[in-house]
Amino acid sequence: MKKIIIAIDGYSSTGKSTVAKQLADYLGYIYVDTGAMYRAITLYAMQKGYISENHFDKKSLVNDLQNIQITFKLNSKTGKNEVYLNGKNVEKQIRTLEVSKFVSPIATISEVRKKLVEQQQELGKEKGIVMDGRDIGTVVFPNAELKIFMTASLETRAKRRYKELVDTGEKISYKDIVDNVKERDFIDTTREDSPLKKAKDAIEIDNSNLNREDQFYTILQLAQDRIAGRI
Ligand code: C5P
Repeated sequence: MKKIIIAIDGYSSTGKSTVAKQLADYLGYIYVDTGAMYRAITLYAMQKGYISENHFDKKSLVNDLQNIQITFKLNSKTGKNEVYLNGKNVEKQIRTLEVSKFVSPIATISEVRKKLVEQQQELGKEKGIVMDGRDIGTVVFPNAELKIFMTASLETRAKRRYKELVDTGEKISYKDIVDNVKERDFIDTTREDSPLKKAKDAIEIDNSNLNREDQFYTILQLAQDRIAGRI
């Protein structure tokens, strides 16, 4: 059967990864969470002291990029791909609010983007892939057969993120989450290199009032139409 590329972009915490993973599992495709790649580089920059509250040394990070290797490995227990930074599993560490605070500034650096986009394009060479992020339909795979642009109200998104983090045991306030989601949206949509925007041929889905199942079947139908060449 024909294999396609499915690109899922959108604002922070719109549930992109949930639906991307559901689709990949159903279709037997590879799922790549590109946000995890930017988060892993951010964690590296934090560990090396290149970025902190009052300090951002872009140059040293750029000079050190060649020493950063990001890979994914399947966790057979959860069935999820987990991200590794230089051979170390960092899946849990990259999900903290602290990493979320620094990731958007790190993602403005063109050299960082170039490195990751090349790796992402390589992963999608054989098609049969669902990739989520901010620039997948616009930059990484401008010829993707199916492009989805996800949106949801700020409140819906912040509540989801808050629940996710509280469930992992992190002590955070709801206001910190709202501030972080707003700030990341702002940086991601206004940066110079590959800003988040809807590709002309993307289909917009607002999931503020859609449950997970309805959302999944809506997008699956679109994917199956593309695979069968109906659209
Ligand atoms: O998807 P997630 O929220 O984990 O992404 C974290 C951050 O990584 C985003 O807020 C954005 O700054 C950056 N990112 C990006 N391009 C992508 C994926 C993520 O700039 N393709």
